[in-house]
Amino acid sequence: MARETVSEQLIRPLVRTLQPYVPGEQPRVKGLIKLNTNENPYPPSPRVLEAVRAAVDGRLRLYPDPTAERLRDKLARLHGCDPDQILVGNGADEVLRLAVHTFVEPLAAQRGPLSRRYLVPPAPATVQSFVPSYSLYPVLAAQHGAAFNPVPLQMEFALPEAGQLKHLKQWQPQAALTIITTPNAPSGRGYATRDIENICARTRGVLLLDETYADFAPENALALALKHPHVIVCRSFSKAYSLCFLRIGYAVGPKPLIQAMHKLRDSYNVNGLAQVAAEATLDDLAYYRENFRKIIETREWTTRQLQQLGFLVLPSQTNFILTRPPGPPAGDWYAQFRQNNILVRWFDTPELSPYLRITIGTPKDMETLVRVAKRLLR
Ligand SMILES: *Cc1c(COP(=O)(O)O)cnc(C)c1O
Repeated sequence: MARETVSEQLIRPLVRTLQPYVPGEQPRVKGLIKLNTNENPYPPSPRVLEAVRAAVDGRLRLYPDPTAERLRDKLARLHGCDPDQILVGNGADEVLRLAVHTFVEPLAAQRGPLSRRYLVPPAPATVQSFVPSYSLYPVLAAQHGAAFNPVPLQMEFALPEAGQLKHLKQWQPQAALTIITTPNAPSGRGYATRDIENICARTRGVLLLDETYADFAPENALALALKHPHVIVCRSFSKAYSLCFLRIGYAVGPKPLIQAMHKLRDSYNVNGLAQVAAEATLDDLAYYRENFRKIIETREWTTRQLQQLGFLVLPSQTNFILTRPPGPPAGDWYAQFRQNNILVRWFDTPELSPYLRITIGTPKDMETLVRVAKRLLR
């Protein structure tokens, strides 16, 4: 290993060796069709923009509501629960981080990579999720000094059936925190609430359902968070509600779990403009439901068009598709799309490298994508 400088020696060993999360590219190129980070192609409702504009005045000198009380009241009414069962975060990402910090015990601080120190990491120090899914989960575990236990999904990204779990060596029913991305990212596959509830019965730690994409699916599992003492659902205003820029998401779950998470968040974790925007969003849900309908329609159109060109497209219940292109490797397709000003996502991992993940844009964006794909195939 290269000699460390004096400054480097001051950094905790865990942080020195940490591999940070790599977000999708946010390019500065003009005119690029951006289909790589699952952003919504439609702007927030005019009423939301108006509410944010109206809030930009001398009030910016004041601290925002530390507990986002008005927003929690509205969310509680929407979901039929108590406001104390809701925590609002600086994006769903913060909610996920708080869950790791609240429920998972870090392993004792020692030198060297975690994986070499434990044959089987202790369950109280384990975050587990099905893979592939959101690549932030293992990073959150590593940042916290906890272990990460990846449980492989079945064929075509299906969840294991509850009965199968017993036989899966990798499954740890006692893991302090288990995360299911439902619908799944990056495959887009949706899961039946019944199947999730069966897994729920075989989970001894906290089960967190990451429902970032639930609004694009025919069903969601929020009811499980209101029924079971160990289930939390996490949602985001980013993708479905066109508010990535403002960073806002939330968790719903049993009061004791949610209240414990509140103890660990920053006092003013959600900025005031984000609170205003999210409240106005909930007052105009009809606008967003129409966008969900349009995106689903465009998703189905894109799927059919790409299938006709020989792409394998996995059925999606989200605002993106995972597709295996015909002919050259997916990495080449990614580069060719990019040369044609279309940015999609390609994950260079063994499970995902044959695929491209393509966010559903406007009908015009997707027509361009299909046209370019046709040209590249010739
Ligand atoms: C985008 C995404 C998030 C993060 O959402 P933010 O609210 O923008 O932090 C969480 N989980 C999954 C699966 C996502 O795709």
